[in-house]
Amino acid sequence: MSTDTVKNPETNPEKHPGELIRLEQVTKRFGDNTVLDHLDFSVQAGKHVTLIGPSGSGKTTILRLLMTLTKPDEGTITVDGQQLFPAPEKQVREIRKKIGMVFQQFNLFPNMTVLKNITEAPVTVLGMSKDEAEERARDLLDLVGLADKCDARPTQLSGGQQQRVAIARALAMRPQVLLLDEVTSALDPELVAGVLDVLRDIARSTDITMLCVTHEMNFARDISDQVLMFDSGRVIESGPPEQMFSEPEQDRTREFLSAVL
Ligand code: ADP
Repeated sequence: MSTDTVKNPETNPEKHPGELIRLEQVTKRFGDNTVLDHLDFSVQAGKHVTLIGPSGSGKTTILRLLMTLTKPDEGTITVDGQQLFPAPEKQVREIRKKIGMVFQQFNLFPNMTVLKNITEAPVTVLGMSKDEAEERARDLLDLVGLADKCDARPTQLSGGQQQRVAIARALAMRPQVLLLDEVTSALDPELVAGVLDVLRDIARSTDITMLCVTHEMNFARDISDQVLMFDSGRVIESGPPEQMFSEPEQDRTREFLSAVL
């Protein structure tokens, strides 16, 4: 287990310089199903961390907790030195602005143009001027290779293009951390590479922190600073990708990787 796994949880976030995300003793249950079991882990600012492990091991639940789409039953979650859970609603809203997420199913607004999909939240949530939001949206569409699609509707785009718009939309909020939840698993195989290339580019050219759930192991190997192997709601092993993919210590990790690689 890596040394940055929390062994002795501290509640004062100032004692953890450089850390952007910290989960301490987080437990999440759905009925009798304990999905996360006293989970501790942290992510350093600017790092790219990938969560791997079998389906149902709790990876997506972690991203949903950070997005406040669900709440833990126990434990604390801290983002950028501020507690996200438990916390007053106003504090939660402030922290949420620092977090962007891209979902499996794009979740674009179907009745809005691509440009409007991207400018909507910066204007309404951040109070950005329409001109500034549009200028930034055009830059981001350029970054994801869709500069010519400003006026298109989502239904006129392929799944891969829609997902690239969703990535641009998340980045438009200037988040400190980007959560990626199996962003290519709903795509036709021939569209996967284009989306992963965009994400590789973002990982390389920005200082954004990434927390990523993926079954694309080559992608995970390319972009990750650290890979965490989950099983039954616990991190059973973690380390840099070259170690995790070449010399995993745990039998469970070896079994999982031999099934997916
Ligand atoms: P993973 O991302 O590793 O596939 P998830 O975090 O999606 O795993 O799910 C972990 C477990 O939690 C699964 O057993 C899943 O069925 C259960 N689960 C997730 N969301 C809910 C929910 N809203 N209600 C009930 N059970 C859920």
